[in-house]
Amino acid sequence: MIVKDCEIPIKLQMIQALIKRLPITHPIHPVLSSDFNRNMAGYKGEHRVIHALKSLPEKKYLIFHDLRLLASPYPFQMDILLLTPCFILILEVKNIAGELYFDKGFNQLIRTKSDGQREAFDDPILQVNRQRSLLIEWLKTKNWSIPIETLVVSSNSSSVVTAENKDITSKVVIRRDFLYHKIREFIKKHDEEKLTKKELKKVTNHLLKAHTPLIPNLLENYKIPITDLKTGVFCPRCSSYPMKRKNGIWICHSCSNKSKDAHLSSLQDYFFLIKPTITNQQLREFLHIHSASTANKLLKSMDLPHTGVTKGRVYHLKLKT
Ligand SMILES: [Zn+2]
Repeated sequence: MIVKDCEIPIKLQMIQALIKRLPITHPIHPVLSSDFNRNMAGYKGEHRVIHALKSLPEKKYLIFHDLRLLASPYPFQMDILLLTPCFILILEVKNIAGELYFDKGFNQLIRTKSDGQREAFDDPILQVNRQRSLLIEWLKTKNWSIPIETLVVSSNSSSVVTAENKDITSKVVIRRDFLYHKIREFIKKHDEEKLTKKELKKVTNHLLKAHTPLIPNLLENYKIPITDLKTGVFCPRCSSYPMKRKNGIWICHSCSNKSKDAHLSSLQDYFFLIKPTITNQQLREFLHIHSASTANKLLKSMDLPHTGVTKGRVYHLKLKT
Protein backbone atom coordinates (compact mmCIF):
# COMPACT_ATOMS: atom_id res chain seq x y z
CA MET A 1 0.00 0.00 0.00
CA ILE A 2 1.32 3.43 -0.89
CA VAL A 3 1.53 5.68 2.16
CA LYS A 4 3.61 8.47 0.66
CA ASP A 5 3.14 8.60 -3.08
CA CYS A 6 5.52 9.37 -5.89
CA GLU A 7 5.08 13.10 -6.39
CA ILE A 8 7.27 15.36 -8.52
CA PRO A 9 10.07 16.38 -6.14
CA ILE A 10 10.10 20.01 -4.97
CA LYS A 11 13.60 20.57 -6.37
CA LEU A 12 12.40 19.59 -9.82
CA GLN A 13 9.43 21.96 -9.57
CA MET A 14 11.78 24.71 -8.39
CA ILE A 15 14.20 24.27 -11.30
CA GLN A 16 11.21 24.33 -13.65
CA ALA A 17 10.04 27.62 -12.11
CA LEU A 18 13.54 29.08 -12.44
CA ILE A 19 13.82 28.08 -16.10
CA LYS A 20 10.47 29.78 -16.74
CA ARG A 21 11.44 32.96 -14.84
CA LEU A 22 14.81 33.55 -16.56
CA PRO A 23 15.22 35.26 -19.94
CA ILE A 24 15.87 32.74 -22.72
CA THR A 25 19.33 34.28 -23.31
CA HIS A 26 20.46 33.81 -19.69
CA PRO A 27 23.84 32.00 -19.60
CA ILE A 28 22.76 29.61 -16.82
CA HIS A 29 20.07 27.94 -18.99
CA PRO A 30 22.23 25.02 -20.28
CA VAL A 31 23.24 24.13 -16.69
CA LEU A 32 19.62 24.33 -15.51
CA SER A 33 18.38 22.17 -18.38
CA SER A 34 21.01 19.54 -17.68
CA ASP A 35 20.17 19.54 -13.92
CA PHE A 36 16.47 19.38 -14.74
CA ASN A 37 16.97 16.38 -17.04
CA ARG A 38 19.11 14.56 -14.47
CA ASN A 39 16.60 15.13 -11.66
CA MET A 40 13.70 14.18 -13.94
CA ALA A 41 15.42 10.92 -14.95
CA GLY A 42 15.91 10.12 -11.24
CA TYR A 43 12.25 10.80 -10.52
CA LYS A 44 11.07 8.66 -13.46
CA GLY A 45 13.29 5.81 -12.27
CA GLU A 46 11.79 5.98 -8.77
CA HIS A 47 8.32 6.12 -10.29
CA ARG A 48 8.98 2.88 -12.18
CA VAL A 49 10.22 1.12 -9.04
CA ILE A 50 7.19 2.30 -7.01
CA HIS A 51 5.01 0.90 -9.78
CA ALA A 52 6.79 -2.46 -9.50
CA LEU A 53 6.27 -2.45 -5.70
CA LYS A 54 2.55 -1.85 -6.12
CA SER A 55 2.25 -5.40 -7.42
CA LEU A 56 3.21 -6.80 -3.98
CA PRO A 57 0.15 -8.67 -2.75
CA GLU A 58 0.75 -7.85 0.89
CA LYS A 59 -1.49 -4.90 1.68
CA LYS A 60 0.20 -4.48 5.05
CA TYR A 61 3.50 -3.60 3.31
CA LEU A 62 3.76 0.16 3.38
CA ILE A 63 5.56 2.11 0.67
CA PHE A 64 7.04 5.58 1.23
CA HIS A 65 8.54 7.62 -1.60
CA ASP A 66 11.22 10.26 -1.00
CA LEU A 67 11.40 10.52 2.78
CA ARG A 68 13.80 13.00 4.31
CA LEU A 69 14.39 12.81 8.04
CA LEU A 70 16.30 15.21 10.25
CA ALA A 71 18.79 13.08 12.12
CA SER A 72 21.67 14.31 14.15
CA PRO A 73 24.16 15.42 12.94
CA TYR A 74 22.93 15.24 9.31
CA PRO A 75 19.57 14.97 7.62
CA PHE A 76 19.17 11.97 5.31
CA GLN A 77 16.94 11.20 2.38
CA MET A 78 15.72 7.81 1.18
CA ASP A 79 14.38 7.28 -2.34
CA ILE A 80 11.98 4.51 -1.33
CA LEU A 81 11.30 2.87 2.02
CA LEU A 82 9.26 -0.32 2.40
CA LEU A 83 7.93 -0.85 5.91
CA THR A 84 6.68 -4.32 6.87
CA PRO A 85 5.90 -5.83 10.29
CA CYS A 86 9.10 -7.92 10.07
CA PHE A 87 11.69 -5.69 8.37
CA ILE A 88 12.37 -2.40 6.61
CA LEU A 89 13.84 -2.20 3.13
CA ILE A 90 15.57 0.95 1.89
CA LEU A 91 15.93 1.31 -1.87
CA GLU A 92 18.38 3.67 -3.54
CA VAL A 93 17.26 4.00 -7.14
CA LYS A 94 19.63 4.79 -9.99
CA ASN A 95 18.22 5.58 -13.40
CA ILE A 96 21.47 5.81 -15.34
CA ALA A 97 21.83 4.50 -18.87
CA GLY A 98 25.02 2.86 -20.16
CA GLU A 99 27.48 0.46 -18.58
CA LEU A 100 27.64 0.90 -14.79
CA TYR A 101 30.75 -0.28 -12.98
CA PHE A 102 30.79 -0.38 -9.17
CA ASP A 103 34.33 0.43 -8.16
CA LYS A 104 34.60 -0.52 -4.47
CA GLY A 105 38.29 0.37 -4.37
CA PHE A 106 37.51 4.05 -4.84
CA ASN A 107 33.88 3.95 -3.69
CA GLN A 108 32.49 5.27 -6.91
CA LEU A 109 30.10 4.33 -9.64
CA ILE A 110 31.52 4.73 -13.14
CA ARG A 111 29.21 5.05 -16.10
CA THR A 112 30.51 4.42 -19.60
CA LYS A 113 28.27 5.68 -22.39
CA SER A 114 28.00 3.95 -25.77
CA ASP A 115 30.39 6.58 -27.24
CA GLY A 116 33.01 5.59 -24.67
CA GLN A 117 32.62 8.72 -22.53
CA ARG A 118 33.12 7.98 -18.81
CA GLU A 119 31.59 9.73 -15.81
CA ALA A 120 31.92 9.07 -12.06
CA PHE A 121 29.06 9.23 -9.53
CA ASP A 122 28.96 8.92 -5.74
CA ASP A 123 28.81 5.28 -4.68
CA PRO A 124 25.11 4.43 -4.14
CA ILE A 125 26.05 1.41 -2.00
CA LEU A 126 27.84 3.72 0.41
CA GLN A 127 24.86 6.11 0.30
CA VAL A 128 22.26 3.46 1.14
CA ASN A 129 24.42 1.99 3.93
CA ARG A 130 24.72 5.43 5.46
CA GLN A 131 20.94 5.84 5.26
CA ARG A 132 20.56 2.49 7.02
CA SER A 133 22.87 3.53 9.92
CA LEU A 134 21.06 6.85 10.33
CA LEU A 135 17.62 5.20 10.21
CA ILE A 136 18.68 2.69 12.88
CA GLU A 137 19.71 5.63 15.10
CA TRP A 138 16.48 7.49 14.32
CA LEU A 139 14.35 4.44 15.22
CA LYS A 140 16.40 3.90 18.37
CA THR A 141 15.43 7.34 19.66
CA LYS A 142 11.79 6.15 19.46
CA ASN A 143 12.62 2.77 21.05
CA TRP A 144 11.95 0.74 17.92
CA SER A 145 14.18 -1.98 16.66
CA ILE A 146 13.60 -3.80 13.38
CA PRO A 147 15.98 -5.37 10.85
CA ILE A 148 16.84 -3.07 7.96
CA GLU A 149 17.78 -4.36 4.51
CA THR A 150 19.14 -2.20 1.71
CA LEU A 151 19.33 -2.47 -2.05
CA VAL A 152 20.53 -0.35 -4.92
CA VAL A 153 18.07 -0.70 -7.81
CA SER A 154 19.09 0.04 -11.36
CA SER A 155 15.81 1.19 -12.88
CA ASN A 156 17.09 1.78 -16.40
CA SER A 157 16.38 -1.29 -18.51
CA SER A 158 19.16 -0.39 -20.95
CA SER A 159 21.94 -0.25 -18.34
CA VAL A 160 24.51 -3.02 -17.89
CA VAL A 161 25.66 -3.45 -14.30
CA THR A 162 29.13 -4.83 -13.59
CA ALA A 163 31.46 -5.05 -10.60
CA GLU A 164 34.76 -6.73 -9.77
CA ASN A 165 33.14 -8.49 -6.84
CA LYS A 166 30.24 -10.71 -8.01
CA ASP A 167 28.58 -10.39 -4.56
CA ILE A 168 27.80 -6.77 -5.43
CA THR A 169 25.87 -7.53 -8.59
CA SER A 170 23.99 -10.47 -7.09
CA LYS A 171 23.19 -9.21 -3.59
CA VAL A 172 23.59 -5.45 -3.28
CA VAL A 173 22.79 -3.99 -6.69
CA ILE A 174 19.86 -5.40 -8.61
CA ARG A 175 17.89 -4.65 -11.70
CA ARG A 176 14.28 -3.50 -11.31
CA ASP A 177 12.78 -6.70 -12.72
CA PHE A 178 14.60 -8.72 -10.03
CA LEU A 179 13.21 -6.63 -7.16
CA TYR A 180 10.10 -8.74 -6.59
CA HIS A 181 12.19 -11.90 -6.32
CA LYS A 182 14.62 -10.21 -3.92
CA ILE A 183 11.81 -9.01 -1.66
CA ARG A 184 10.46 -12.57 -1.48
CA GLU A 185 13.93 -13.62 -0.23
CA PHE A 186 13.79 -10.98 2.50
CA ILE A 187 10.28 -12.10 3.49
CA LYS A 188 11.59 -15.65 3.97
CA LYS A 189 14.64 -14.43 5.87
CA HIS A 190 12.69 -12.21 8.29
CA ASP A 191 9.66 -14.22 9.35
CA GLU A 192 9.35 -12.87 12.89
CA GLU A 193 6.95 -9.97 13.44
CA LYS A 194 8.78 -7.11 15.14
CA LEU A 195 5.96 -4.59 14.99
CA THR A 196 2.31 -5.10 15.87
CA LYS A 197 -0.38 -3.59 13.70
CA LYS A 198 -0.68 -0.73 16.18
CA GLU A 199 3.09 -0.13 16.22
CA LEU A 200 3.22 -0.23 12.43
CA LYS A 201 0.67 2.56 12.35
CA LYS A 202 2.66 4.51 14.93
CA VAL A 203 5.92 4.19 12.97
CA THR A 204 4.06 5.26 9.81
CA ASN A 205 2.70 8.38 11.49
CA HIS A 206 6.09 9.23 12.94
CA LEU A 207 7.80 8.87 9.57
CA LEU A 208 5.23 11.05 7.82
CA LYS A 209 5.36 13.68 10.54
CA ALA A 210 9.16 13.73 10.58
CA HIS A 211 9.45 14.11 6.81
CA THR A 212 11.10 17.46 6.11
CA PRO A 213 11.56 18.23 2.41
CA LEU A 214 14.70 20.07 1.42
CA ILE A 215 13.90 23.52 0.06
CA PRO A 216 17.13 24.61 -1.63
CA ASN A 217 17.97 28.25 -2.30
CA LEU A 218 18.37 28.00 -6.08
CA LEU A 219 19.31 31.66 -6.67
CA GLU A 220 22.15 31.28 -4.19
CA ASN A 221 23.19 27.84 -5.45
CA TYR A 222 23.35 28.95 -9.09
CA LYS A 223 24.60 32.47 -8.16
CA ILE A 224 21.75 34.23 -9.95
CA PRO A 225 20.90 37.80 -8.86
CA ILE A 226 17.22 38.23 -7.97
CA THR A 227 17.02 41.08 -10.51
CA ASP A 228 17.56 38.54 -13.33
CA LEU A 229 14.13 37.02 -12.68
CA LYS A 230 11.18 37.93 -14.89
CA THR A 231 8.36 39.28 -12.76
CA GLY A 232 4.64 39.42 -13.52
CA VAL A 233 1.87 36.88 -13.98
CA PHE A 234 2.34 34.34 -16.78
CA CYS A 235 -0.54 33.36 -19.04
CA PRO A 236 -1.45 29.72 -18.28
CA ARG A 237 -2.39 29.19 -21.94
CA CYS A 238 0.45 30.78 -23.97
CA SER A 239 3.05 31.63 -21.25
CA SER A 240 3.18 35.33 -22.25
CA TYR A 241 3.70 37.83 -19.47
CA PRO A 242 2.80 40.03 -17.72
CA MET A 243 -0.96 39.49 -17.66
CA LYS A 244 -2.93 42.60 -16.68
CA ARG A 245 -5.54 42.56 -13.92
CA LYS A 246 -8.82 44.26 -14.78
CA ASN A 247 -12.05 44.04 -12.78
CA GLY A 248 -10.81 41.04 -10.84
CA ILE A 249 -9.69 39.11 -13.95
CA TRP A 250 -6.19 38.49 -15.37
CA ILE A 251 -6.09 39.19 -19.11
CA CYS A 252 -3.35 38.04 -21.50
CA HIS A 253 -2.26 40.76 -23.95
CA SER A 254 -1.07 38.15 -26.37
CA CYS A 255 -3.84 35.52 -26.65
CA SER A 256 -6.68 37.37 -24.83
CA ASN A 257 -7.00 34.47 -22.40
CA LYS A 258 -8.84 35.37 -19.18
CA SER A 259 -8.06 33.86 -15.81
CA LYS A 260 -9.30 34.38 -12.29
CA ASP A 261 -6.44 32.68 -10.51
CA ALA A 262 -3.33 32.96 -12.73
CA HIS A 263 -1.58 34.73 -9.80
CA LEU A 264 -1.50 31.49 -7.78
CA SER A 265 1.19 29.87 -9.91
CA SER A 266 3.23 33.11 -9.84
CA LEU A 267 3.10 33.15 -6.05
CA GLN A 268 4.22 29.53 -6.09
CA ASP A 269 7.24 30.69 -8.15
CA TYR A 270 7.85 33.45 -5.58
CA PHE A 271 7.81 30.84 -2.80
CA PHE A 272 10.17 28.53 -4.73
CA LEU A 273 12.66 31.15 -5.87
CA ILE A 274 12.55 34.12 -3.52
CA LYS A 275 11.18 33.33 -0.06
CA PRO A 276 8.26 31.72 1.75
CA THR A 277 6.80 35.01 3.00
CA ILE A 278 5.46 38.07 1.18
CA THR A 279 4.18 41.53 2.08
CA ASN A 280 1.52 43.56 0.28
CA GLN A 281 4.20 45.69 -1.37
CA GLN A 282 6.32 42.73 -2.46
CA LEU A 283 3.22 41.10 -3.94
CA ARG A 284 2.42 44.26 -5.91
CA GLU A 285 5.96 44.40 -7.29
CA PHE A 286 6.06 40.73 -8.25
CA LEU A 287 2.58 40.53 -9.77
CA HIS A 288 2.66 44.05 -11.30
CA ILE A 289 -0.36 45.32 -9.38
CA HIS A 290 -0.64 49.07 -8.77
CA SER A 291 -3.29 49.22 -6.10
CA ALA A 292 -2.63 48.20 -2.49
CA SER A 293 -6.30 47.40 -1.95
CA THR A 294 -6.38 45.01 -4.96
CA ALA A 295 -3.29 43.28 -3.55
CA ASN A 296 -5.01 43.13 -0.17
CA LYS A 297 -8.08 41.51 -1.70
CA LEU A 298 -5.93 38.88 -3.42
CA LEU A 299 -4.05 38.12 -0.22
CA LYS A 300 -7.29 37.83 1.76
CA SER A 301 -8.83 35.53 -0.87
CA MET A 302 -5.95 33.09 -0.45
CA ASP A 303 -6.56 32.82 3.30
CA LEU A 304 -2.84 32.73 4.14
CA PRO A 305 -1.55 32.62 7.70
CA HIS A 306 -0.03 35.99 8.58
CA THR A 307 1.91 37.81 11.26
CA GLY A 308 2.16 41.52 12.06
CA VAL A 309 -0.31 44.29 11.44
CA THR A 310 -1.17 46.86 8.74
CA LYS A 311 1.72 47.77 6.41
CA GLY A 312 4.22 45.43 8.03
CA ARG A 313 1.97 42.38 7.78
CA VAL A 314 3.81 39.34 6.46
CA TYR A 315 1.90 36.52 4.73
CA HIS A 316 3.20 32.97 4.81
CA LEU A 317 2.92 31.29 1.43
CA LYS A 318 2.10 27.59 1.24
CA LEU A 319 3.35 24.84 -1.01
CA LYS A 320 0.79 23.77 -3.57
CA THR A 321 -0.69 20.43 -2.55
ZN1 LIG B 1 -1.91 34.02 -23.40
